[in-house]
Amino acid sequence: MQLIKNAKYIATPGKGILAADESTGTIGKRLSSINVENIESNRQALRELLFTSSEAVPYLSGVILFEETLYQKTTDGKPFVELLQENNVIPGIKVDKGVVELAGTNGETTTQGFDSLGARCQQYYKAGARFAKWRAVLKIGATEPSELSIQQNAQGLARYAIICQENGLVPIVEPEILTDGSHDIKKCAAVTETVLAAVYKALNDHHVLLEGTLLKPNMVTPGSDSPKVTPEVIAEYTVQALRRTVPAAVPGIVFLSGGQSEEEATLNLNAMNKLEVVKPWTLSFSFGRALQQSTLKTWGGKKENVEKAQEVFLLRCKSNSEATLGHYTAGGTATGPQILNI
Ligand code: 13P
Repeated sequence: MQLIKNAKYIATPGKGILAADESTGTIGKRLSSINVENIESNRQALRELLFTSSEAVPYLSGVILFEETLYQKTTDGKPFVELLQENNVIPGIKVDKGVVELAGTNGETTTQGFDSLGARCQQYYKAGARFAKWRAVLKIGATEPSELSIQQNAQGLARYAIICQENGLVPIVEPEILTDGSHDIKKCAAVTETVLAAVYKALNDHHVLLEGTLLKPNMVTPGSDSPKVTPEVIAEYTVQALRRTVPAAVPGIVFLSGGQSEEEATLNLNAMNKLEVVKPWTLSFSFGRALQQSTLKTWGGKKENVEKAQEVFLLRCKSNSEATLGHYTAGGTATGPQILNI
């Protein structure tokens, strides 16, 4: 069955996903950080730089695209989708339409995008997409996430997942718990377990074929206003939370980077794959910022920097590929994580 085959392929050890599905608004923020105007030709140029990195793409099994990018071409006129397929990279598509506030909560949200979702999935399938992404966002606070937010987001993810499967797309289920706050890692672990348990209950209730899905979770870390801990500690809490809640039928877990530095995200993924406990799923990456930050900076919107930027992108892809196998050795760069004794 195609859903199972594609999900399994995306979860191939040694490969991962490039999340290049920033909406027009979000990519505008990234481009403005390098003083580049947010116009279609510049968005196309950035995506072309990434997708034509011929030495880097063998480390990728999938790329998540925004709708505009799904229909774009290289400057030579080759559709991006074709280029990716020729390199054994499966094109994916972001299908959610962002979040809106849940009334009566302290800034909690639910995800939009159900209007004509089935018809859109059909169109995206025709255009070559074989997997999709839908991001639900939860936050940790004194009384958050609320039961309402947990249930609404779990139901939303499950409904999205079954609509994708009905239309031939592997759903990436993404319940992102934000790092904002001063909570400790234990709190993040407890919330992650509660949220994932609710998500898998909902996926089962909606008759989603788990073998044809992927999970995109946050790593379990202390809040962004709390002292950092080592990758080994993050690995232990994260893998423990996943082992307690994610069924073995799920072929792969592909983490988001959620604002971690490039080196931090790679070291954390590597530490998880080094852990000697039974892990029934592949642990890999679906990074946006942690794959693109240094590439974007090196490029700076200038043609003459494309080659250098592609070398930087290759380094991140190769490093994260090694991390999926637990073989990465730290780059020792200035951007590396601050390792504290705990
Ligand atoms: P980051 O890795 O930058 O968090 O983005 C991944 C993503 O696609 C979030 O939805």
